[in-house]
Amino acid sequence: MNNYDVIFIGSGHACNHGAFSLAAAGKKVAIIEQGKNGGTCTNYGCDAKIILDGPFEYREGLQRYDNIGVKAPEINWSALMEYKKTSSVSV
Ligand SMILES: Cc1cc2nc3c(=O)[nH]c(=O)nc-3n(C[C@H](O)[C@H](O)[C@H](O)COP(=O)(O)OP(=O)(O)OC[C@H]3O[C@@H](n4cnc5c(N)ncnc54)[C@H](O)[C@@H]3O)c2cc1C
Repeated sequence: MNNYDVIFIGSGHACNHGAFSLAAAGKKVAIIEQGKNGGTCTNYGCDAKIILDGPFEYREGLQRYDNIGVKAPEINWSALMEYKKTSSVSV
């Protein structure tokens, strides 16, 4: 049986901040995760939202220049969704 100073249940941002600081301070830390490592933000929340939202924000900005010769790009929604479903979403 292993002994730990701290055990985190769930590997989301709350754990991330605590676990790394405690490990850096020399504590023995365990993380128990029932789903995907990284929690909501990394896998389904913030990062995934930025992947889907980001291109539309850029396009909206460019659309303001439409009448002075700047063409806003087409966005391939299916390709974005496919990328979001991969395990390593980042931009
Ligand atoms: C669509 C969406 C967009 C978001 N956008 C933003 C944003 O732009 N900015 C922002 O600041 N916040 C955003 N959030 C909120 C952010 O994701 C949360 O505030 C953050 O993830 C909370 O972190 P947490 O560690 O408390 O919980 P979580 O990240 O939810 O982690 C909890 C983990 O615990 C695990 N778990 C639960 N029960 C058990 C168990 N019994 N045994 C083992 N493991 C267990 C879960 O599987 C999960 O991995 C967004 C959320 C969503 C849904």
